[in-house]
Amino acid sequence: MNPRHVRSPFREAVIDLDAIRANVAHLAATVAPASVMAVVKADAYGHGAAPVARAALEGGADWLGVADIDEALALRDAGIEAPVLAWLHDPDARYDGAIAQRVDLGVSSIAQLEAMADAAARAGRPANLHLKLDTGLSRNGILRTEWDAAVARAAALEAEGRIRVRGLFSHLANTSPVDDRDQLAAFLDGVAAAERAGVVPDVRHLAASAGALRVPETRLDLVRIGIGVYGLPPFGDGTTAADLGLRPAMTLRGRVAAVRHVESGTGVSYGYTWRAPRPTTLALVPLGYADGIPRHASGRGEVVIGGRRHRVAGRVAMDQFVVDVGDADVAVGDEVVLFGDPADGVPSADDWADAAGTIGYEIVTRIGPRVPRTHLEAP
Ligand SMILES: *Cc1c(COP(=O)(O)O)cnc(C)c1O
Repeated sequence: MNPRHVRSPFREAVIDLDAIRANVAHLAATVAPASVMAVVKADAYGHGAAPVARAALEGGADWLGVADIDEALALRDAGIEAPVLAWLHDPDARYDGAIAQRVDLGVSSIAQLEAMADAAARAGRPANLHLKLDTGLSRNGILRTEWDAAVARAAALEAEGRIRVRGLFSHLANTSPVDDRDQLAAFLDGVAAAERAGVVPDVRHLAASAGALRVPETRLDLVRIGIGVYGLPPFGDGTTAADLGLRPAMTLRGRVAAVRHVESGTGVSYGYTWRAPRPTTLALVPLGYADGIPRHASGRGEVVIGGRRHRVAGRVAMDQFVVDVGDADVAVGDEVVLFGDPADGVPSADDWADAAGTIGYEIVTRIGPRVPRTHLEAP
């Protein structure tokens, strides 16, 4: 039986792995000849790191990207052998485990470079490194004033066989195409400085989803795609997934836990911020802010029950919220879809983001641990 048609559980995030594969294949075709690193940090943006990583590799990604070394090691523990890059490190990290497991490491300071070279010496194998140049985001990365010293030291360590500089990279602020091009120019200055020092990386990478889609010259050798893998638009300007040829992979759903008919004027949920404007029917949805439903979407978010849209009535609570279903025929146990692929007539994660004054990234990454993830394969 197609699991799509199995009665939905109480709460569930369904992850369509075909959508992941199709999104990566579409993005890979779009950015070719650049290759794709699928970014699966933060448990693949809440979608489940190992199954998403496998699907992304099947879809044509050559690399995986994560923030923390522990996330990279979890992929290795799951049997995933593809190249993986981790770029955000504990100040006391020793890097031995990462090097032993052939995890590539982003380098944001000369101190990190030295610590990684020391760990490589202990491990008896060279560390695969990607020097991260701060080109203007002012978040992480080697400061421009230290680029020359860093590439000179990297060249010396490479000559000693302790490290291999596999990559040079930076990250865009996505402020405007003009700002992005300024960062690209700064980055290419850094690449030239590295070459003068004798450091020639296999891959130069700068763009994440937004840059890869909007500023093609930032694609270089490799693009690091996160949100696009999950079928969500990176822009927050009303561009839809369908506009980009993408399909949202996550559907968040549950079952109506209670139904009641109320009189006009009945207050609903904490603080009575909403009162029934007429006699109506209320349905209880068993997901709340502990499950990542933003309290800021109180009174604004929408769900679909039985093919019809209904709005949150009153405040989102920790475990539940109420929707006003009017005269719709809604029963306890009915499926309620909070978001999914808007092509199916349901709200998108971006609709919830708009309702809460945030971005789709925050909606999917914050779905809580109480919501089981179900990974769908092609039937
Ligand atoms: C999260 C992240 C990405 C992916 O960004 P998206 O906008 O989700 O594509 C790429 N590179 C770095 C350094 C990141 O931290």
